[in-house]
Amino acid sequence: KQFHTLNISRPILRAIAALGYAAPTPVQSAVIPIALSGKDIVAGAVTGSGKTAAYMIPVLERLLYRPKKIASTRVVVLAPTRELAIQVSDVGRKLSQYVPGIRFGLAVGGLNLRVQEQELKSRPDIVVATPGRFIDHIRNSPSFQVDDVEILIIDEADRMLEEGFQKELTELLTLMPTRRQTLLFSATMNSSIKQLIQLSLHQPVRIMI
Ligand code: AMP
Repeated sequence: KQFHTLNISRPILRAIAALGYAAPTPVQSAVIPIALSGKDIVAGAVTGSGKTAAYMIPVLERLLYRPKKIASTRVVVLAPTRELAIQVSDVGRKLSQYVPGIRFGLAVGGLNLRVQEQELKSRPDIVVATPGRFIDHIRNSPSFQVDDVEILIIDEADRMLEEGFQKELTELLTLMPTRRQTLLFSATMNSSIKQLIQLSLHQPVRIMI
């Protein structure tokens, strides 16, 4: 399989080539077509599997093909740590380098709160966040909300629960529109992950590689 057989548009194929990815990884081959079809997904995927691009590519395709005139945050990626969130937004920026006008925002602990607040107020298309800091922003900033979220990514769900973010995750889920697409990635599955899956996904396709 090659990337161009996966219904990916030219500017994103160009960015994939610029990153030096010759062919999709197994997770990417499995996730990309199903994510493009709009379905929810639970994927068992470890770090190093190429999971970031597996969800970022379909996210960018959606923004590219269903543009909106009014700035709104349409995609939220939740990550367990600030390091991972920064890494995810870097990959996203690189994959969207030939797609003009896609804006990323970060909401993570350890970075200046006011600067992030200003950034979120401008409603970036994609916000990459850790749950704790993200909740703080939504609670404290009347000009930022998550009513327009169309796609939610929960990356490294198992680590997120290990970090103690269960309460924040549950609260975030109640704030986002229920009519959305959700993709959840986790290296391991246990009863608390299954509970989170019940809570956050709708008839998900399961991809275990
Ligand atoms: P991830 O699992 O998303 O953290 O990605 C792990 C590493 O694999 C990163 O350094 C990516 O740049 C790289 N990578 C992702 N997709 C591919 C691909 N299709 N071909 C080669 N390397 C890739």
